[in-house]
Amino acid sequence: MTALPDRGVPAEQVLAELGALRGRDLPTHGGRLFAYVYDAAVPGLDQLTASAYALAAHVNGLDPTAFPSLLAMENDLVAAAAQVTSGAEAAAGVVGNVTSGGTESLLLAVKAARDAHPDLATPRLVVPASAHAAFAKAAQYLRVALDVVEIDPATLLPDPAAMAAAITADTVLVACSAPAYPYGVIDPVAEIAAVAADAGVRCHVDACFGGWLLPYLRRLGRPIPPFGFELPGVTSVSVDLHKYAYAPKGVSVLLHRDASLRRPQYFGFAGWPGYPLLNATVASTRSGGPVAGAWATLRHLGDDGYLRLAERTWSAVTGLAAAVSTVDGLRLLAEPQTSVVVFTCTDPDPYVLADQLAARGWHTQPQLPYPPLPASIHLSVTAAVADQVAEFGPALHDAVAAARAAPIQVPPELAAAVADLDPATLGPETMAGLAAAAGFGPDGLPESMAIVNTLLATLPPERRAALLVEFLSLLQTPAHRPA
Ligand SMILES: *Cc1c(COP(=O)(O)O)cnc(C)c1O
Repeated sequence: MTALPDRGVPAEQVLAELGALRGRDLPTHGGRLFAYVYDAAVPGLDQLTASAYALAAHVNGLDPTAFPSLLAMENDLVAAAAQVTSGAEAAAGVVGNVTSGGTESLLLAVKAARDAHPDLATPRLVVPASAHAAFAKAAQYLRVALDVVEIDPATLLPDPAAMAAAITADTVLVACSAPAYPYGVIDPVAEIAAVAADAGVRCHVDACFGGWLLPYLRRLGRPIPPFGFELPGVTSVSVDLHKYAYAPKGVSVLLHRDASLRRPQYFGFAGWPGYPLLNATVASTRSGGPVAGAWATLRHLGDDGYLRLAERTWSAVTGLAAAVSTVDGLRLLAEPQTSVVVFTCTDPDPYVLADQLAARGWHTQPQLPYPPLPASIHLSVTAAVADQVAEFGPALHDAVAAARAAPIQVPPELAAAVADLDPATLGPETMAGLAAAAGFGPDGLPESMAIVNTLLATLPPERRAALLVEFLSLLQTPAHRPA
């Protein structure tokens, strides 16, 4: 379809077209998609956030003096995030900004740490291997060297002594996660922050995923250690409101212990004939829609609402983990600590199992092997899952039986072609040929993810990324029509 018809199309028709496009997406509601979406399943919440979003969609975050409503909402969100993650006492003096998401929050935490040290030729960042890939992105974008500390394959945690040993005179930031996304386990934040402080280095706690949930799980009696500014040595914390605060997409908060730590995050420039450009975050013109949507979500759900949602989430987590434990051949990689259930298996093949679950309407997230860690199936669990748990067990049993009965075969020519790929010469033609050989549909999307994952798993991680980037480039090629 063309986005620009010769003559404009009536509004109802446009909405019908949009609805038809959306029909092919994974279900954002219903509690059977265990990645990408965070669903509170609270009646009326979507309508509220849509109205709030619409009220502020044309408000511009470029200039808070022109739109004080946005400034007020952002300061409210920052204060709430500081209080939830760190408690009221430790939140005093904390400053922060609303960003577009976890990735931007991490980019800015790394930028602030880097630009606090303009003297260093090669600033360095120390992270555990389980830290979110957005740190690797920040390192690449900002030309900061990345030092990765491997995690213990049994506990899935980094050793604070190994983190300490990785710190050099060029290290500008040490980071850890509460919890880390792949396995949902909480790094030893207190110990890591202490070794960073001993070395005089900033310490960022990436609580993007679970930062909003952990304090509520603690109030429900779960053994959740402190992870915020109540710990000496923690200099910044990120928490995504579009995850467990259940806000619509496009809102995260980056907190700094004080304004002096935040200063190098800012950009100011008055050396051109136009308006002085003052930005705390990456974007300059920014819609007020996501901010208003998040503000409305927090006000409507309230502290008591989040406590109830955490209770539902935890009951879903324990229910799913119990279902996994009843199936022979499946093994939980970790006893669930937070909102992730993650398991591994060799028979059935985990990628085939994920496809079989998807065929039954349950959309999980396969994770490729990271030796010595095996391939796994990840479930991010939200409150909406609570109502679905009873049906997960039978579906899992069925899917396991079907996956064992119908293992996939990767065509040997395809496996050989992928093994021989040279990332330097990989282009759109080669990629299109591979996609056709792997049985991708006419829309360019794979029909069997198991074949794709099996092929990717045979490659070293850099080659996996090279192949996937070429695939994305192929997908992101519009159909050009003759004039
Ligand atoms: C989701 C996530 C991020 C990245 O957030 P986006 O909002 O997807 O940019 C960073 N860290 C952790 C731990 C996450 O779970």
